[in-house]
Amino acid sequence: MKKDIPVFDGHNDTLLHLQDGVTSFYESLKDTHIDYYRAKEAGFAGGFFAAYTPSREQEEDRYNYMNENGYKFPLPDRITKEEALGFTHKLAAQLFRIETENPDKFRVVRNVKELKDSIDQGTMAGIFHIEGAECIDLSFDSLYVLYEAGLRSIGPVWSRSNDFGEGVPFCYPSTPDTGGGLTDKGIELIQHCNHLGIMIDTTHLNEKGFWDVAHATTAPIVATHSNVHAICPISRNLTDEQIQEIADSGGVIGINFAVNMLRADGKMETDVSMDEIIAHFRYIADFVGVDHVAFGSDFDGTSIPDILQDVSGTRKVMQALSEDGFTEEELEKIAYKNWVRVLENTWKD
Ligand SMILES: [Zn+2]
Repeated sequence: MKKDIPVFDGHNDTLLHLQDGVTSFYESLKDTHIDYYRAKEAGFAGGFFAAYTPSREQEEDRYNYMNENGYKFPLPDRITKEEALGFTHKLAAQLFRIETENPDKFRVVRNVKELKDSIDQGTMAGIFHIEGAECIDLSFDSLYVLYEAGLRSIGPVWSRSNDFGEGVPFCYPSTPDTGGGLTDKGIELIQHCNHLGIMIDTTHLNEKGFWDVAHATTAPIVATHSNVHAICPISRNLTDEQIQEIADSGGVIGINFAVNMLRADGKMETDVSMDEIIAHFRYIADFVGVDHVAFGSDFDGTSIPDILQDVSGTRKVMQALSEDGFTEEELEKIAYKNWVRVLENTWKD
């Protein structure tokens, strides 16, 4: 394998670690999966940087909801628009701070040319993504303002419910068909996003919500950080029908490195083999084609396999994909070209 294929990634939560406004992306951040220099060393070309507003109360002890067969965690309460908008501003500001601290090293990209140029020139590229649309008011004014600021991707829900729809709880084993889908305002959100050219992420929607997006949207369907349900039957993963629908739309699935979404037994244990990781890429490539699978690490948002360690693990995954038989051209698609294609067909410029 050529050593230098850049990897563009579908999802990280690294902004949460910068929220104090002091911690810098250019420091050695020992407790995180990503900082600039480790990412650069790993060939990380950038990705979708999520603005996610955490729930107010700390989640209860998860072990209360686990038994020998699996788990079913209750979802946290809704959050208010005000707290979500305030926190989204805080995290978006950290994304812009990464750029202003070192504009020659990192760029917030707003169109396909900027994205392609960044990858070509080795400038790390960040896409402003909102995970859970609680900060968007029901007149959509904030959507238009945030778009002008650089917002180019949005997931209508994180797993907790909001005015736009119901999310999928974390259950194993379970289908993703766990409840109601988008509300009328959720459908309106899709229409506004299509109009502006904001990518819509179906990750964290339940199955009904997924199909509501699929029927409403005019853009390729995307799941930025979800895996294969046929391998790991957790509610967060995608059924074969959903994978087929994403492929038919020209969309893409970013493979999530969350251990409980990779492992067939759904356990939250980090001794996951490289074969178990590669199996999700291979399944989608064999089933619907290599054009529809990419990276969606969830770095800094989840527990990842020990074998990956941190962002440096992306190199190991690329090597393992190569050893699994993916050609150079296929590796380039998985690494970044699939994401670029989807954004070319989604963004307005
Ligand atoms: Zn997520």
